[in-house]
Amino acid sequence: MKASSRWFLGAIAVVLAVLSLAAGILAMPSVEDVVFTRLAEHHLRAGAAALLKDDALKVLLCGTSAPFADPHRAQSCVAVIAGGRYYLVDTGPGSSRNLMLWQLQGRELGAVFLTHFHSDHIGDLGEVNTNAWLAGHVGSLQVFGGPGVEQVVNGINQTYALDQSYRTANSGAQMLPPVSAVIHPVVINLIGPPSHEKTRRSPPMQFGELTVMAIEVNHDPAEPAYGYRFDYRGRSAVVSGDTEYHPALADAAKDTDVLIHEAQSQHLVQLIQKGAERTGDARISQTMGDIQHYHTDPQDAARIANQAHVRLLVLTHLDPPVSNPLLYRMFYRGMNHVRAHGWISGEDGTLVTLPVGSTNVNVSTIAR
Ligand SMILES: [Zn+2]
Ligand SMILES: [Zn+2]
Repeated sequence: MKASSRWFLGAIAVVLAVLSLAAGILAMPSVEDVVFTRLAEHHLRAGAAALLKDDALKVLLCGTSAPFADPHRAQSCVAVIAGGRYYLVDTGPGSSRNLMLWQLQGRELGAVFLTHFHSDHIGDLGEVNTNAWLAGHVGSLQVFGGPGVEQVVNGINQTYALDQSYRTANSGAQMLPPVSAVIHPVVINLIGPPSHEKTRRSPPMQFGELTVMAIEVNHDPAEPAYGYRFDYRGRSAVVSGDTEYHPALADAAKDTDVLIHEAQSQHLVQLIQKGAERTGDARISQTMGDIQHYHTDPQDAARIANQAHVRLLVLTHLDPPVSNPLLYRMFYRGMNHVRAHGWISGEDGTLVTLPVGSTNVNVSTIAR
């Protein structure tokens, strides 16, 4: 054997010995305990303070899927962050998990605004409230929505009553007061008589320096259906909720910084419908036919954004979920002809930051 080969084999033997020694040390119970404790301390210290910093209006997508299941997307949820607190527009299934992963457990949760009462928008309301209560949220969490919100809230309070009694019995009423465990419904009524055009809005609602307004949209037969507009120290965001193409939304979103708009690719839904017809799945075929009229194609969402002159359009409630490059291309086919710039496809964790005193629109992804 040549001297260079002997040297090489010797070096490998030394590296393997060091690695196995290191693996042995790391596997010692006392070392594992120290590593785990340090990681837990780091996690607890980090919190969500940076995210909640009071220097911007922020919009964080906490659920971007419609009812189609997707491993990387929860269902409808948008967090609006302002004044050191955050506000949730809808709490779709899976959204409470995202919020927990991002350390938004609920102590700073200002309120929940429901757009309408389809299950993909309300499924995690009980979990969001329970997490907030456990995290030390003071008082009843307010849940705003159109008429019907009382029925949803009362049902969830009833469903969670036993869970809450067990937890208070275990930790004491000082730690987990029953009064803070229940959610409180607040009905938002719109101004003026109903009309076919659905152009009504609510009076402005004030949360510190944050102003919130409900906007009537068209998701018939899901009625009422609202979008919401948020204004904070000169910056603004609108969340469409579920709606068909609704030009009145462009008026309500006029000149806002960010429009978060639902999107359903009618072309892809029609292809699924055809596939279901060929495989003899009548239920899927009918469902794909039934959902087409009350959602908005991405190109129509872009038209609303153009009419409103918003700086950034963020597509969400993606139906079907955009889960690979092929689907992305098909979902947004022709999009750039309508709006060449100023739009993005939303992902769970997409964070839009609108600094106060600036016209900047900064897009990032929250660290997981
Ligand atoms: Zn929906
Ligand atoms: Zn809906």
